[in-house]
Order: sequence, then structure tokens, then C-alpha cells
Amino acid sequence: MALFNRILLKLSGESLMGEKQYGIDEKRLGEYAAQIKEIHDMGVQIGIVIGGGNIFRGLSGSQKGFDRVKGDQMGMLATVINSLALSSAFTAAGVKNRVLTAIRMEPIGEFYNKWRALECLEAGEVVIFSAGTGSPYFTTDTGSSLRGIEIEADVMLKGTRVDGVYTADPEKDPTATKFSEITYDEVLARNLKVMDLSAICMCKDNDLPIIVFNMDVVGNLKKVLSGEDIGTVVHP
Ligand code: UDP
Repeated sequence: MALFNRILLKLSGESLMGEKQYGIDEKRLGEYAAQIKEIHDMGVQIGIVIGGGNIFRGLSGSQKGFDRVKGDQMGMLATVINSLALSSAFTAAGVKNRVLTAIRMEPIGEFYNKWRALECLEAGEVVIFSAGTGSPYFTTDTGSSLRGIEIEADVMLKGTRVDGVYTADPEKDPTATKFSEITYDEVLARNLKVMDLSAICMCKDNDLPIIVFNMDVVGNLKKVLSGEDIGTVVHP
């Protein structure tokens, strides 16, 4: 029995690179699809937002001279590429799925609206929300908070390459310790880099709990859905 009925899973584009320096690692892609299939088989309704950092980020583009809005649009298109890769991996694994886009671009995906998304989720399809919010100056973290709230998800699962929220960046500070739970207010007060500020504030304002966990360890997603205490819960 799964802990949650409907989830919004945020995957980082950067993690999709696996061992590579750029783009999509087929092994990591296959592992993600297999992990998601496991919880789909448990009957969980799954919405997914995937980032685009493995291909392009607007902010780093603008530091290299790109117009920021065009750079962000390139970033949003990068999330569409990742979404299509994920969709293709789901289809190969026999998982029914649907790509919705925040920017109109049929036939690549259907234009997003909440009710279409709910229809697909209730029909048992994994729904991939691509192109972020559709607007520049946002990130896919904000996109996932927004979609998570809109589809009335029970929780947002933020799959990263670290196993939770730490007092400091564990990749830089070996004395950092992990929280098993923490409130939104404490995340904000300590300026912890769980997600960007807009994303955290949206979750706080709309009571969407977040679980941060390491998605790169195969089997972890199922553990989270089975109620194992492996990540950090961010709650009111
Ligand atoms: N982006 C955007 N609006 C959105 C979501 C994303 O402009 O609503 C752009 C932004 O340039 C961002 C890029 O898409 O840098 C890729 O998303 P993100 O950096 O969140 O990917 P991740 O870090 O999760 O791989």
C-alpha cells in the first residue's frame, strides 16, 4: 500500500546526465523509468516535472551574453527534450504516459490544463509536465510547486543526488548533518538550498509538503512511497 495517492515528482535535468558531462545518459534514464514504473504498479498517480540543466540554463546563458528571456525559453525547450526522453523510456517499459506542455507546441505534446491533467492521471497515465511554468525567470522547482498545487498532489517528491536537507552543503562541508524533518519557516530562516525561494514559498503558502531524497540510488523512490524514512520531510 503506497503512502500517497497522488504525487508530483521533480527530477533534476542535471541528474539525467549520469556520468556524462552533457545531455542524457540512457542508463540513468532507464533507471528512472524503472523506479517510476515500480510505484506506478503500486497504483500511485504520478505527475512529473523534469529540469533542463543537463542541456541549458537561462541564467548561465545570460552570463555568456544570451538575452535572458531567450535563454530561459531555451531552458524550457530543454525540459521538453528531457520530457520526451522520459516519455519514450516509459513507453519502452510499458508505462502509459502523456506529455503536456506549458507552451503550445502540438504535436510534441498537448497544451497543459489542470482538468486534462487530472483526466490523464485518473486514467492511470504518468503525466509529464514539460516547459516549466511557460514563463521566463522561473525554474522547474517553481514549475513543480505550481503543478503539484494545481493537481492537488498529496506531496512533492524532490529527487536529487543528495539524500536530504543538510545544515550545510554536504558536498562541500563534511561536518554537515541531515534533517529528517524540517519546517518551511526553518528552511527559509536558515537559507537552506532545498529549492529556490519562490518554489518554497509557494509550497508553504499552499501547504504542499516536500520530501527531498536521493533519486539516483535505485529503489529509493519505492522506499519513500512505502513510508521508509530515507529523506527529509519539509512541512508546515
Ligand atoms: N525555465 C524557465 N521557466 C520555467 C522553468 C524553467 O525559464 O518555468 C528555464 C530556466 O532558464 C532554467 C531552465 O529552464 O534554468 C532549466 O530548468 P532548471 O534550471 O530548473 O533545471 P534543473 O536545474 O532542474 O535541471
